[in-house]
Parts: sequence; C-alpha cells; structure tokens
Amino acid sequence: MTSTKQLRKWDKKYIWHPFTQMKEWQASEPVIVARGEGNYLIDTEGKKYLDGVSSLWCNVHGHQVPEVDAAVRRQLSRIAHSTFLGLSHEPAIELSKKIIEIAPKGLTRVFYSDSGSASVEVALKMAYQYWRQKGAPKKKIFLRLKNAYHGDTLGSVSVGGIELFHEIFSPLLFKAYQAQAPYAYRDAFSGSEIKYAKFCADKVEHILMRHHDKICAIIAEPLIQGAAGMLTQPKGYLTHLRRLATKYKALLIVDEVATGFGRTGKMFACEHERVAPDLLCIAKGITAGYLPLSATLATEEIYSAFLGEFREMKAFFHGHTYSANPLACAAAIANLKIFKKRKVLQTLQKKIKILNDELKKIKQLKAVGDVRQVGLMVGIELVAEQKTKKPYPPGDRIGMRVALLARRYGVMIRPLGDVVVLMPPLSITEKELRFLCWAVGNCILRTTR
Ligand SMILES: *Cc1c(COP(=O)(O)O)cnc(C)c1O
Repeated sequence: MTSTKQLRKWDKKYIWHPFTQMKEWQASEPVIVARGEGNYLIDTEGKKYLDGVSSLWCNVHGHQVPEVDAAVRRQLSRIAHSTFLGLSHEPAIELSKKIIEIAPKGLTRVFYSDSGSASVEVALKMAYQYWRQKGAPKKKIFLRLKNAYHGDTLGSVSVGGIELFHEIFSPLLFKAYQAQAPYAYRDAFSGSEIKYAKFCADKVEHILMRHHDKICAIIAEPLIQGAAGMLTQPKGYLTHLRRLATKYKALLIVDEVATGFGRTGKMFACEHERVAPDLLCIAKGITAGYLPLSATLATEEIYSAFLGEFREMKAFFHGHTYSANPLACAAAIANLKIFKKRKVLQTLQKKIKILNDELKKIKQLKAVGDVRQVGLMVGIELVAEQKTKKPYPPGDRIGMRVALLARRYGVMIRPLGDVVVLMPPLSITEKELRFLCWAVGNCILRTTR
C-alpha cells in the first residue's frame, strides 16, 4: 500500500479537482478515501466518517451493499460494456421496464446517458426538436428559474440560474427567459404558503403571457432547488408550473437528478403533487450511487413526434459511447429491488420525522437563519445576524469551516456557500441521524460563537 503522504504528493502533482481552488487544495491535507462500509467512508489512515451528503447526493443504501455488489459482479462475468447505438442488452431492457413502472404517469420512454448534466442536455434537445417536428419551429427558447441548477455543460448552464456560473460563461450560453423562483426566507412575503405559491407562479406566467409563442419548455427542479442552497418551494408551486406549461403550450421538464430515488420521502418528488411532467431527468441515485448513469424519460406524445421514414431525418440525434452501460444498469436494477425488499420508502418516514425534530434544535442556534428540509434533503443557512438576515462575508468561508470541523467529529459534509447541507443515505439509522445533527449543531455553534 502506498502511504497517505505519497498519495497526497502525487494527487497534488497530477490532479485538477472539480469545483476546487487548487491553490487552496495544494496547501491542504486532503482526505483520501480508501473504502466505504455501510453509511461510512474510511480514509487511508483508517479514520471513519459518516457519509453526511451521500458522496455528493448519490449514495442511497450505503457503501458495499451486498445485493448491488453481487449484481455488478454478476454482470461483470458477462460483459462490462457494449454499445447501445444499434444494439441492445438485457440489463437496460429490464431496467427500463422497471423505471417506467414506477415513473410519474404518462412517461413511457427511457433515453439513457451518463450524467445528470447529459440527461438535461437530452431533455433540452428533445424539447427543441419536438417543436420543430410539430411544425412550431419558433418555439425554441427555454424558461428557466432563478437559482436553478441543472448541471455544468453549456446547455445545462444556459438553463441554470446561478449567477456566478452564468456570468463567467455568458458569451457561450444560449438565451433563455428567467423567472424569479421561490426563496421564502429572503422574499419577505407575508401571506400563506398557498398564496406564496401563486405569487411565485404569477412571475412565471408574466413571462409566458408575453413570450409563449417562442417558449418551448419550462425547466425546473421539483420541490427544492438543490445546488442553490436547498431552496424549498411552497406547496402547490410545482402544480402551478404544470398548469402553466399546459395552458401556454410549453413542455414541462422536471429535473429530478437530485430529488429522485427516495430523497424527498417518495420515489420521485413529482409524486408529492401528483404532477406528470413531459420530460423527466434522473441520475444521481439511479445506480444507488455506484456508477455513472442517467436517463431522460419522455411521454409517448414526444416520442411519437420523432417517428418517421429514415429520409425525413426525424430521429433524435444524440448518444454517448457509454449510454446505458450494462454494469451501471445492473446496479440500478439492484437498487430498485432493494427499495422493494427493504421497504425503504416506508421506513424512511420515521427518519424524516426524527430529522425534523433534531433540526428544530439546530434552528435555535444564533447563527442559523433558516432551516429547510424536504425528506432527507436539508439546508441550514448561516447568517451573521439573525434579525437582519445579513450574510457572512464570503471570505469567512463559514460553511466550509463548519464542514472541516465536522470531520473531527467523524462526519463528512460539503456545504454550499453559507448553507450547511445534510443529505445522508436513505439507509442512515435513526441513531446515526441523531448523531449527525448533534455533531453538525456543535460544529455550527463552535464555528460561529
Ligand atoms: C447534480 C445535479 C445535476 C448534474 O448532474 P451531474 O451528474 O453532476 O452532471 C443536474 N441537476 C440537478 C438538480 C442536480 O442536483
């Protein structure tokens, strides 16, 4: 075994890490993960950390899950990869059937890719090409929400609403209309939740009223905007988006890359409001957090607009080398079987309640401005002053400092700016959940007093 010291040296010599200021990284002592066991990560020094953000929101049933391991091994003894362009294979066929059986109503077709960003690119291109082939080529502009995050490729950034990313790459991005999105904590809207949902939906409708002839689709994260800082939406907002999309003849693209596979307490967040989107993007949790795989689900109406004679050139022109990788599909099938076998969604309800109770204690802390929760997705927004909601100076790196301190408690988390994020695997035990909240509460207290 190579020593941790040597590994760190080579890491710093050869690697460029994602979303990382490498100058800072060079000066740090990075944790090098050696293995995973249940809900824990274990580093090369043998130190154990509770995986508090599910290895960036994708792990579902913990690490080294016997059934998933066995499914991947079984597939490995057959074939690791063969193309999906012009050929098919059993794992993808079985998985597609299973996904459509649990997907929101009306979605009948599965198109595979290999990351959440790619699944969004696919949805955008499908929506665009759909209207061309329906004889409405003017409908080619997307309606995005402020603070939205749909991935890092240029198409997905174009429909994202996080200012920093937009600003840097703006000359490279395509035009989209942007509507204000819910952010109750900073919106200072005083009415009921239902009224707030309508108030926010009206902002979307204003744009649709003026530009609907040019708008091909509305794209949104359902119930909660993850990467922007776990910004929760008022009840009914998603239903409004569905209603407006239908009213103004735009497609509704729902991005469940983060929310899918139980994270919100139901298999898909759409189910909370019984909303049926026209296109649905899924990724992160699809393989239980084992392998890169994503999918864009489409309705039969969209799918059939791409049918025609070869010479009509109506096929959907998109595909990746590793689309529907068989190992990933095998892991995904095992993932769905575990949901059934272990009654994951049922046992989750009590955990969500416990988490809610524990968060009430964290809410009391002086530096905590807002606590937002949907299922097992949590954002704790830290503020310099509760009364005025004044943020910390960004240079304070307050969220990052809380996360670094948490490592000393044996908890691995990753913040979003000043928002401390908790998003444990669905397999987290009640005891671990209490410990996670206790540790994080302590770290917030110690960092901010
Ligand atoms: C993470 C995320 C993406 C991007 O997925 P990648 O696999 O990182 O490309 C897209 N949309 C949402 C809502 C996400 O949380």
